[in-house]
Amino acid sequence: MEETVKKLNFLEEIIEDDLKSGKCSSILTRFPPEPNGYLHLGHAKSLCINFGLAQKYGGKTNLRYDDTNPTKEDTEYVDAIKEDIKWLGFQWEKECYASDYFQQLYDWAEMLVERGLAYVDDQTQEQISEGRGTVEKPGIESPWRNRSVEENLRLLREMKDGKYADGEKVLRAKIDMAHPNMMFRDPILYRIKHAHHHRTGDKWCIYPMYDYTHGQCDSIENITHSICTLEFDVHRPLYDWFIQTLGIYPSHQYEFARLNLTYTLMSKRKLLELVQKGLVSGWDDPRMPTLCGVRRRGYTAEALKMFCDKIGVTKHDQLMDIQLLEWCVRQDLNERSNRYMVVSDDPIKLTVTNWPAGVTEWFDCPLNPSDPEGAKRKVPFTGELLIDRADFMEDAPNKFFRLKPDGEVRLKYTYIVKCNEIVKDSDGKVVELKCTYDPSTRPGNGEWRSVKGTIHWVSTRYAKEIELRQYDRLFTLADMSQVPEDKDYKDFLNPQSLVVEKGWCEPAMLEDNSGIAVQFERVGYYVKDSDSTLEHPVFNKTVALKDSYKPE
Ligand code: ATP
Ligand code: MG
Repeated sequence: MEETVKKLNFLEEIIEDDLKSGKCSSILTRFPPEPNGYLHLGHAKSLCINFGLAQKYGGKTNLRYDDTNPTKEDTEYVDAIKEDIKWLGFQWEKECYASDYFQQLYDWAEMLVERGLAYVDDQTQEQISEGRGTVEKPGIESPWRNRSVEENLRLLREMKDGKYADGEKVLRAKIDMAHPNMMFRDPILYRIKHAHHHRTGDKWCIYPMYDYTHGQCDSIENITHSICTLEFDVHRPLYDWFIQTLGIYPSHQYEFARLNLTYTLMSKRKLLELVQKGLVSGWDDPRMPTLCGVRRRGYTAEALKMFCDKIGVTKHDQLMDIQLLEWCVRQDLNERSNRYMVVSDDPIKLTVTNWPAGVTEWFDCPLNPSDPEGAKRKVPFTGELLIDRADFMEDAPNKFFRLKPDGEVRLKYTYIVKCNEIVKDSDGKVVELKCTYDPSTRPGNGEWRSVKGTIHWVSTRYAKEIELRQYDRLFTLADMSQVPEDKDYKDFLNPQSLVVEKGWCEPAMLEDNSGIAVQFERVGYYVKDSDSTLEHPVFNKTVALKDSYKPE
């Protein structure tokens, strides 16, 4: 195996420095999903970074649900997230919930009030946003900013006890309404929300805001490196402010560039809309960029990890080419997947006129050509076969090496046949090719006559009909962040993203229990769908076999 020394990414540099300087003796990272949707490919990057760094440096990773928005969250998502992380092959140290710390967070809020660092504001949401000012213009102080500690404490307790309606009051930190970083202009710490929480039930009717929650949760768990996406860099000073002001364990936040992919949307809000509007069959629709979607599509955890490794960790946002991901999927499946022959919709019948009637010859064919002596499948050859229509051409150019009138081709793994006669229906469509086979060309016979073309085939007598779901990209716009003002992202849904066809496969394929996608020889990778039954097998197209794409 070739070993190249890889340059450390900026997070690895930081961690190595911290371990060397003794700033920490081991590292603890966390993955902090909000349970308001299913994980997507962007989360896979975050998972690979958080768990990958911990693995590399002998540390650990907590799974922490950032569950502070009761109205959008659900245990359905909590469970799905765990399943996806396990599928990727990662094991968390502790399963934590921000809601586990609600009491502690609240106690700290009272402490801030007592120290004159927080106040209850009666302004409406609009007034508060209005009063924040802009980057150029300082904000204005709330008329409620100078309430006494006693009054603030009483009001906060009343808020907690449910005395007020949603939106009637908030708790804000008292920092600086003219601060150049807008985050410091008296950020909201708590809002009132009379909503049932999937874990704490009706215990709370005030819920902490992200900025007041995240850093303290990291600190409570002694997270050493809290890694998040770039848009949080403006939050970092506030993250530090809470930790310093409360005098608690000094977790630190580091930001990396989020994953953006061509032809792909990764906003949970929009993915949820696609599901709710029935524009896809569900979160696990094989066209979705969710982990359950790509899994159903046949992408492997190994391929996703290979992809995350290739894109690396940077500090500037960029749009990654989805072809690189598809290339990784192909790489992984090429090595591991079993091969079968499948003829697609609208095939042509190929009759071997000199084949003895009723005879079946079984060929032992390797499941994977990289291991020709390895496991085999048995493929039946008979006098009546099906081939792909694309593998025959009546008026073929010289360079066409598949079957043509009077031409020869090898039927993969078996004999060379020659096309002697074309049969057409009344519309002039080719329906049958009458061929003869050359018995001396049987592989292993010693005499190996070669022809330029090899095509795949199935025996009509043994072939099984299957449903093929031919998937393509969900969107037609390469950069989905560039949807024009007068359009909606849904205007770019690809009407051809799913085409359902029929196919005929060799019988062994339906017994395949490798658990990953199989290769339809010469065509692409396909995986058995969860809708598949014995009577009605269904296969999803994972990715085409060939592509001109080459990674740098
Ligand atoms: P979305 O905007 O899709 O709802 P989110 O950031 O709100 O995503 P969270 O559940 O809060 O989703 O994310 C959990 C973790 O995954 C966070 O640390 C977040 O920064 C990270 N993450 C989310 N999207 C991406 C992405 N596209 N690339 C890399 N990391 C991401
Ligand atoms: Mg989020």
